Amino acid sequence: MRKNCLRLSKNMVNEDIKIVETDVLVVGGGPAALRAAIEARKEDVGVTVVVKRKLGKSGNAVVSHTGHNAPFGHADPRDNPKVYFHNTIVAGKLVNNQKLVRVMAVEACQRILELESFGVKFEKQNDKFLQRHAPGHTYPRSCYTPRRRGIDVTLPMAKVAKEVGVRVLEETMLVEILHDGLRVLGAVGFNRLTGKIIVFKCRALILATGGAGQIFSATNNTADTTGDGYSIAFNAEVELVDMEFFQFYPHMLTYPFKTLVSPILFKHGAKLLNSEGERFMKRYDPANVDLATRDIKARAMALEVMHGRGIKGGIRLDLSEIEEEKLKVSNPHLYEPIKKKGLDYRKAEFIVYPAAHFYMGGIRINERCETSLKGLYACGEVAGGVHGANRLANNAHTETVVFGARAGKFAARWAKESKIEEIDQKKLYSIKEYIYRIGNGREDLEKHRRRFRESMWRNAGLLRNEKGLKENLEIINECYSQIESIRAENSVKKVEVLEFVNMLNVGKLLTVAALARTESRGAHYRLDYPEIDNKNWLKNIIITKDKRGEPKIRLTEVTKIEESL
Ligand SMILES: Cc1cc2nc3c(=O)[nH]c(=O)nc-3n(C[C@H](O)[C@H](O)[C@H](O)COP(=O)(O)OP(=O)(O)OC[C@H]3O[C@@H](n4cnc5c(N)ncnc54)[C@H](O)[C@@H]3O)c2cc1C
Repeated sequence: MRKNCLRLSKNMVNEDIKIVETDVLVVGGGPAALRAAIEARKEDVGVTVVVKRKLGKSGNAVVSHTGHNAPFGHADPRDNPKVYFHNTIVAGKLVNNQKLVRVMAVEACQRILELESFGVKFEKQNDKFLQRHAPGHTYPRSCYTPRRRGIDVTLPMAKVAKEVGVRVLEETMLVEILHDGLRVLGAVGFNRLTGKIIVFKCRALILATGGAGQIFSATNNTADTTGDGYSIAFNAEVELVDMEFFQFYPHMLTYPFKTLVSPILFKHGAKLLNSEGERFMKRYDPANVDLATRDIKARAMALEVMHGRGIKGGIRLDLSEIEEEKLKVSNPHLYEPIKKKGLDYRKAEFIVYPAAHFYMGGIRINERCETSLKGLYACGEVAGGVHGANRLANNAHTETVVFGARAGKFAARWAKESKIEEIDQKKLYSIKEYIYRIGNGREDLEKHRRRFRESMWRNAGLLRNEKGLKENLEIINECYSQIESIRAENSVKKVEVLEFVNMLNVGKLLTVAALARTESRGAHYRLDYPEIDNKNWLKNIIITKDKRGEPKIRLTEVTKIEESL
């Protein structure tokens, strides 16, 4: 047990409650939260960032490869926001919120230039961005930092945030939002090291808590990516959209070591082969073959393995025709271990298989990043709608800065117009009781977590059908019934149990939406409904919480723009 947990009472909760008052509360420590916090400060309001781990050193951004799309047209002058908009919608299989995509296409360049002004160094030559060509993009438009390390983006941003006076509370998990049914009043957090409950009183709140890859047993997401924001929003009766759309990154190297294989490599001659040595992608996407978008590739790989044409549970990655310099520059995370292990990459066996990567679905927002609850904003991966049924490579980072800046601006403006209100003590008491109760059982968390995550992967992952999805719901319900029997030895472990409850909630939302969508579209593939159904399903699924606390589904038309860009 950690030293600073010793003062805690038996249920790992420090009895004194800390109260923090702020104009804008930003939740998260990744690029979306950082960009939002910096922008909100420009409006001269007080801004506090609360983050479950460390600012700029947590969340998926830290393991990301730093690709940011922007239609500068430096690699090909024909590129422009209109083509970028079009590529994003086509990849999203026409269910993206077009108003959000337009915002991203139009504002991307400005936001990337701002990142440079914050001290982020992108690869450049003669003052022009070196723009790489990723699958699904008509022109090369991905800008990278030289080392492909996420902290080269987040640490300069964190430095700026501190310089402009953003207050930071680290190691604190936001547990629930406080509201009066009409607007946000504050939130409750729990410090994982001190065991202290923190009550936030605020005028506006921005959720930038990232994705939920940890709900699946196979994922490349960081350990803190447990879907808290979706669960917190659902509990606050906020609308979520497209929760069935979860992206599986097609080529995670599983053998002879583990890393992410960059899509750019397929431009340089990498190939996917099944156990028969066949370039099977020719059957699934004859026009693009190995340069198909992620949804098509991940699904094809899973189907090949399902039909017995896999190798070591995956697919062979053939690097034999790639020039060494291209491998080194475009995928240092792959190249460096190859060199260290003394492998001849032209001859060695490499196996890849998909893993849970990115949540396209999320909290429903408009162009001002407003949610269905007044005073609550969302940005970054936790927000839904931009990417439709499938995200294009390197659109996630662009989304974080474009919508981060918007969330910060509009939340701060809302904050200026509103007051800090008194918090309902009864509600506060019930959240405190919930935190006290969690972790007082005897059972091991990992046993239940493993069962849930494996079921999610098996039943609600790459290949879905009604039977599997229903089985998944049963397993989730059984896990819920075990929550109070789980043990947490200290406040760090208590946070893990709180996270597990969030994971179950998100798993349920995903499964309910996946059951409802009786077609296959983008990353959502139903073996029992294998075709896309534009007649009935050119729609978004909105989920809210009903009076019994269960997910309630309704369908909406896709948000379109009337005039062209
Ligand atoms: C291996 C990998 C490589 C990638 N490469 C790229 C790429 O090259 N280009 C691209 O566009 N995208 C890439 N992505 C996706 C991209 O990294 C994410 O979509 C992006 O980081 C999302 O930013 P965010 O700020 O929304 O969330 P994150 O960066 O995930 O940050 C979320 C933050 O919220 C905090 N948090 C979570 N819950 C709570 C809570 N309850 N209370 C307080 N704090 C909380 C976390 O600790 C973290 O600090 C990659 C992802 C992975 C996994």
